[in-house]
Amino acid sequence: MATGKINVSVENIFPLIKKFLYSDHEIFLRELISNATDATLKLKHLTSIGEAKGVEYGEPQIEVKVDKKGKKIHVIDQGIGMTEEEVKKYINELAFSGAEEFLNKYEDGAKDTGIIGHFGLGFYSSFMVAEKVEIITKSFKDEPAVHWSCDGSPKFTIKKAKKEDRGTEIILHVADDSKEFLEEGRITGLLQKYNKFMPIPIKFGTKTETLPKPEGAKEEDPAPTKEVDNIINNPNPAWTKQPSDLKDEDYKSFYRELYPMQFEEPLFNIHLNVDYPFNLTGILYFPKLTNDLNIQKDRIQLYQNQVFVTDNVEGIVPEFLTMLRGVIDSPDIPLNVSRSYLQADGAVKKISSYITRKVADKLNSLFKNNREDFEKKWNDIKIVIEYGMLSEDKFFEKAEKFALYPTVDGNYFTFEELTEKIKDSQTDKDEKMVVLYASDKEAQHSYIEAAKAKGYEVLLLDSPIIGHLMQKLETSKDKISFARVDADHLDNLIKKDDTTISKLSDEEKEKLKTSLEEIIEDKKYTVQLEAMDSNASPFIITEPEFMRRMKEMQQTGGGMFGMGNMPEMY
Ligand code: ADP
Ligand code: MG
Repeated sequence: MATGKINVSVENIFPLIKKFLYSDHEIFLRELISNATDATLKLKHLTSIGEAKGVEYGEPQIEVKVDKKGKKIHVIDQGIGMTEEEVKKYINELAFSGAEEFLNKYEDGAKDTGIIGHFGLGFYSSFMVAEKVEIITKSFKDEPAVHWSCDGSPKFTIKKAKKEDRGTEIILHVADDSKEFLEEGRITGLLQKYNKFMPIPIKFGTKTETLPKPEGAKEEDPAPTKEVDNIINNPNPAWTKQPSDLKDEDYKSFYRELYPMQFEEPLFNIHLNVDYPFNLTGILYFPKLTNDLNIQKDRIQLYQNQVFVTDNVEGIVPEFLTMLRGVIDSPDIPLNVSRSYLQADGAVKKISSYITRKVADKLNSLFKNNREDFEKKWNDIKIVIEYGMLSEDKFFEKAEKFALYPTVDGNYFTFEELTEKIKDSQTDKDEKMVVLYASDKEAQHSYIEAAKAKGYEVLLLDSPIIGHLMQKLETSKDKISFARVDADHLDNLIKKDDTTISKLSDEEKEKLKTSLEEIIEDKKYTVQLEAMDSNASPFIITEPEFMRRMKEMQQTGGGMFGMGNMPEMY
């Protein structure tokens, strides 16, 4: 047997990295700003533990500059910088992460620094848009500054540089096919997307600020103005704070910060905060949801250490919660892997079930603490809860306590309260409890009236997936069945204290029924004369519940959310 070593030629691998490392070229800026942030956070950590003697941390910024004429982008930081030796080690060695090394060296003490990097490839993403990259850097250690330059081939130059102040400047010479990144608007867009909540202030140009008028100024005098740094990020977003330090208004204003185009206020929020066995923070919001299930565009955003990663949280958050909004920040979610891998990942599974549990607990406490308010919100949140009950058994168990079933008269019952109410009055021959419901108050008006006249409770269940939920309740509970008010069930219900006396004899009833059915000429429907005794309609035409439900299911196809994982219905 022979063993060997595969030789990777850098010449070959370099163009590959350039092309395929990240499919999204725009992330180069996120990577450079992440490195600048790491460099700053490292310095902060070293000064705080006394390992950077004589260094003043101050109030460091990161600056992004675009030089359209010179076709250059500059990213400048005031972080730890690099010595010549470090440039050779960290930059010239592909896939060697200085961030990882730092975290390993300082271990637990550095765990909470929020350092971002770990693959050791981020820096090279700059070659996706640049034909040449320069680094001018001066370490916080008392060593000369260094100038590194590389044109995308594996050859590079390194020499001494003139730079007095600590930190690093990265200069990208933007390639012709990437000229879009020299547009100020494009860069602003990228900063807004990826860096809006990063922990070190990021400056991009200046802006004009209006100052208050001096005392005694005349009406027509223009207010004085001042040029100030244009800081594009909020370094301390709400989710990084303690829930106890935030008021309701803080959560609302953070929602507006996240979704500037959303004018409707969220119904309530859930603050996520866990550091064991995984690290996760975040805030989820329940928006007002209607029955319109069109895919919304303001979605939950996923961050890692305050760097935006994606707003596609499929596989990380349970599907029924993807209708919520807000942010999740976790360094423990493996990225750059396929979604199907994500779903199988143990850590991700734990995260997903933690989120489910938190949401269920929050709903439960809202229900317990202020039922009236919860009932008011029910219509706007029911779709999420019903979908959750259908797709996650754990959630179903918890939701049993707070899932509501409204009646046509605007009362709200939990399932337990409902069955308590109808167990004596709404059973059929097989001693099954029959839950009567309407799906359209107007269209089923006379059926509703007929049922009410008999003293039955009629629910109003009109959400698009309620059919599936009824099926689930019927199979998971003993002796329960649902029947719409226009189903032929009304006839079969045994009301224990039924005292109504029909004005027609049995024979007359049978005759009338037969002749009416002949007129209808459709075997699916049944005529019921029971209603004649109430003051609603003289008779009603009914259809078996299962027939109608089958038609309905075929229409909605079970693919309510464009996902094929609804339970089989028949
Ligand atoms: P990662 O960030 O995953 O470690 P990168 O390829 O993004 O990998 O960067 C490689 C290394 O280069 C970093 O770990 C760091 O040591 C060094 N580096 C990159 N940018 C800077 C910077 N602005 N200041 C100081 N060091 C830097
Ligand atoms: Mg990096």
